[in-house]
Amino acid sequence: MNAMNIEPNKNLIARPPVVVVVGHIDHGKTKLLDYIRKTNVMEKESGGITQHIGAYEVMIKTKDGNEEKITFLDTPGHEAFSQIRSRGAKAADVAILVVAADEGVKPQTEESIGVLKNADLPFAVAINKIDKEGANSEKIKKELAEQGILVEDWGGKTPAVEISAKQGTGVEDLLETIVLLAQLEELKADPKILAKGVVIESSLEPKRGNAATLLIQDGTLKVGEFVAAGSAVSPVRIFEDFLGNSLKEASFSSPIRVVGFDCLPPAGTAFSAFYSKKEAEKAAAKEKISGGFFGENKKIKEVQIVSLIIVPVILKADTSGSLEALEKEAKKFDSEKLKIKILKSGTGPVSEDDFKTALSAQEAIIVSFRAGLDVKIRELLSRGGVVFKNFDVIYEASDWLKEQLEKKLPPEIKRMEIGKAKILKLFKKSGQKQVIGGKVLDGFVKAEARFEIIRNEHKIGEGRIMELQQAKIKAKEAAKGDEFGLLVDAAAGIEAGDVLHFFEEKTIKQTL
Ligand code: GDP
Repeated sequence: MNAMNIEPNKNLIARPPVVVVVGHIDHGKTKLLDYIRKTNVMEKESGGITQHIGAYEVMIKTKDGNEEKITFLDTPGHEAFSQIRSRGAKAADVAILVVAADEGVKPQTEESIGVLKNADLPFAVAINKIDKEGANSEKIKKELAEQGILVEDWGGKTPAVEISAKQGTGVEDLLETIVLLAQLEELKADPKILAKGVVIESSLEPKRGNAATLLIQDGTLKVGEFVAAGSAVSPVRIFEDFLGNSLKEASFSSPIRVVGFDCLPPAGTAFSAFYSKKEAEKAAAKEKISGGFFGENKKIKEVQIVSLIIVPVILKADTSGSLEALEKEAKKFDSEKLKIKILKSGTGPVSEDDFKTALSAQEAIIVSFRAGLDVKIRELLSRGGVVFKNFDVIYEASDWLKEQLEKKLPPEIKRMEIGKAKILKLFKKSGQKQVIGGKVLDGFVKAEARFEIIRNEHKIGEGRIMELQQAKIKAKEAAKGDEFGLLVDAAAGIEAGDVLHFFEEKTIKQTL
């Protein structure tokens, strides 16, 4: 079950597995990924902060002393995972199905099992939260059996490991199990060819431009090459590993960040590398015509992906009870528009370390609930760069956080139709500039409006008004029944008989 349909080839060498974590909400997927990242990634010296780019690599030491690399997909929610899967661009080789020992099989557990079965993806079950009162592993195994998943000690083939993502219990065993499962897959790839892989995540970085996290599944990507992902092209110039270190080259199965795409490639899109820009553009142009992976839905999907914003937050509280309440409040705001990434959460006063973590993550928010603050930190915070507030009432903290998060949502732009007019005559045309005369059928024409050009009930183009006149005098507005003259800028040639639909654009603040 090799992911990449590679031709027999003597350059093939073993490829590290790519692992995805699935399961019901709140069963501990994020906690498990965080624990694995914290304990196994050799992080940057400056405070040990990894940027959230949707995937990371870890090095696992197995019991027999071998070192094994694993790439974890850390995509917000499991939608991204099924999108990647449904597109046939197979990103993961092995999965971990997380089931909370105190809750058991839930709707999204069943859904995940369906996805895993459909994709024929090998997986291990992580029975999580075994530290909790009410944890009952045998009950979980029984419920899994009812779903057709027989774990090994019930005579089946699926490995199950009891873990506590909170305390770390059993996580090493789980990782070892994953390594064994992956070894059975005999994953191989060729380091000598141009890189190929799949887009894991993409976003507009405010300061740098269109960026994408790519998972290299085969070949080697080098600085100076070009990548085409669907209809998007980027030079391989700003090229980093998941820790933000600059790279000269990278190979499978590494997640890397490339910045400089001409448009955002949606998650799940396959990418290929090329030696020249021309070749990359040619490949991208073909995708434009065929509609790529998304076919007709391309536009809609792109909008959904682009609009997902990841907001790093740091939570501090006086006690573990209030911290849990604060975490719960913060999690409430996770939605299709926005994903909260909890960089740190802990009890005790806001520390210099918290401040540094916040400062190095882009536009992080620190919410504190009755956690103290020493004078030095107060001074640091007053310099700006970090959004911070302390609260005594939990719902006030929640309201404030909501407000801060809503500020991050880009405004929605809505077209409001203001009027329609029939074109009676084209007087003059020079390039895109056209002088036309018409009559308002409905509503208004306003001097600063834009319009769609409708011919035989089909839209043939758009344009904007440069000047509005009535009786040869400059005017601000013409109303229903009025005749008018217009100087417009439109790429499509306007003719007598066309109908113009005038509109204004309103920016609407998005809410959570
Ligand atoms: P996700 O929605 O599956 O990503 O779940 P999270 O990782 O966000 O976990 C949901 C909640 O369960 C959080 O409050 C975690 O702190 C808590 N949690 C996760 N794993 C464990 C665990 O092993 N033990 C305990 N006691 N709590 C856990």
